Amino acid sequence: MSLFHKQPKVRTRFAPSPTGYLHIGGLRSSLFEYLFAKSNKGVFFLRIEDTDQSREVEGAVDNLLKTLKIVGIEPEEGLFIDSEGKVAEKGHFGPYTQSQRLDLYQKYAQNLVNDGHAYYCFCSPERLAGLREKQEKSKKPTRYDGLCRNLSLEEAKVRIAKGEKYVIRMKMPENRDIEFEDMIKGKIKFNTRELDDQVLLKADGFPTYHLAHIVDDHLMETTHVIRAEEWLPSTPKHIILFECFGWEIPRYAHMPMVLNTDKSKLSKRQGDVAVEDYLAKGYLPEALVNFVALLGWNPGTEQEIFSMAELIKEFSFDKVHKAGAVFDIKKLDWMNGEYIKKMDLDKFIELAKPYLEKNIGDDVNNIAEKELVKAYELEKQRIFKLSEIGESVKFLFTESFDYNPQILVWKKSDKAVTIKNLKSLSDELSAYQEEGWTAKELEEKIINFVKDNNLTNGEVLWPMRVALTGQEKSPTPFEVAEILGKEKSLKRLEIAINLLK
Ligand code: GLU
Repeated sequence: MSLFHKQPKVRTRFAPSPTGYLHIGGLRSSLFEYLFAKSNKGVFFLRIEDTDQSREVEGAVDNLLKTLKIVGIEPEEGLFIDSEGKVAEKGHFGPYTQSQRLDLYQKYAQNLVNDGHAYYCFCSPERLAGLREKQEKSKKPTRYDGLCRNLSLEEAKVRIAKGEKYVIRMKMPENRDIEFEDMIKGKIKFNTRELDDQVLLKADGFPTYHLAHIVDDHLMETTHVIRAEEWLPSTPKHIILFECFGWEIPRYAHMPMVLNTDKSKLSKRQGDVAVEDYLAKGYLPEALVNFVALLGWNPGTEQEIFSMAELIKEFSFDKVHKAGAVFDIKKLDWMNGEYIKKMDLDKFIELAKPYLEKNIGDDVNNIAEKELVKAYELEKQRIFKLSEIGESVKFLFTESFDYNPQILVWKKSDKAVTIKNLKSLSDELSAYQEEGWTAKELEEKIINFVKDNNLTNGEVLWPMRVALTGQEKSPTPFEVAEILGKEKSLKRLEIAINLLK
């Protein structure tokens, strides 16, 4: 026999309830669970917690797993999306869907009753509602008053045989201190006086979350339960349940809340919460993962851009904050922009194409392939998310643009001067060769032209840019002129002069 205990292999799980989509908070949970498992050479698995049938949404599991796959958080065990794009399951601890494990929960609930750790409760929903109302009125904590706690097992069985409806409740020990060490929150202490006799098995035979996840985490050999902070107050109940069963208690990590900028809990009312909505807007999966990793975790250095491999290497719970993490969309935009800038041009074009086609419509065919690529290049440097593509280069695709000529006049200039400058600029540009018609050369030459004629950049470059684009905001006039080419650029200067006249 070895003198050393074998360290159990780390096993973490993501255990979502299929309520329709993957929430940003769920992405963060699954990411931390994944990173922790991977950085410890452990296993990350996926279990579906669907015991609240009233919250079921058709297609939710499929959608959830697909979103996880897109962002690169793929479970090694449990439910996953197979090579044909279908929901499948692998691993030795299945089934991994709770609604397929009901007999197990019923058996374990019975065991608790037989061992005196739980009891049958026959109180009607009406009685419980009345009790609750009274407690609320007198500002007392709302909890079960223990009416059925001391019924004998024989008596309970007689009532069950008569067909009375019942639930199974946990028999919370009286006045016991429960202490545990949370990997994020540190030492946590509760007294059982603060805890309710939790329902474990409902009248319809379905377990509650409390019972089901404990049975599963034991049978599926979960070593670390990493979950949202909202579960922290229930954890002492869970610890007691593990004890009642005589099972080993896993380690816990309760993650800080994700907050809106006003510090309220991240909610639909203030913006998107579904990961799929962010993906649809053209946030890149890598950028989303990177951003979400920094919601509550800090590497302890200045580094902000992390690949998944780097995250796995760097992640640890001692660098996760206790306090809530603000979801700052501006930071996500910045980060996504960085990923877009670094991306390979071909890949960018492939991903951005559908967005450009949507934003520009059929006009997208109005320019030649070479110019189109240049437009992509320009936008790649500027946009924060793919859905923004086209906004600043719309003018490239249209022949007949319409704008208020007043915007051609720079703020420190006037109409007559603008016409004069556009005319001499047009003469200047006519003399340039097609060959050197690049942003870089145009910039050099035009800046010299401005100087040589004792003009200012503002009074020449502003109307030039507006003439070429018809917009007050756009890329530089040199970049635009390069893409338009000599002929189109001169034509647009002429249009501007005519408009001003
Ligand atoms: N089904 C629970 C939820 O979606 C899981 C909590 C846990 O990870 O234990 O909140």
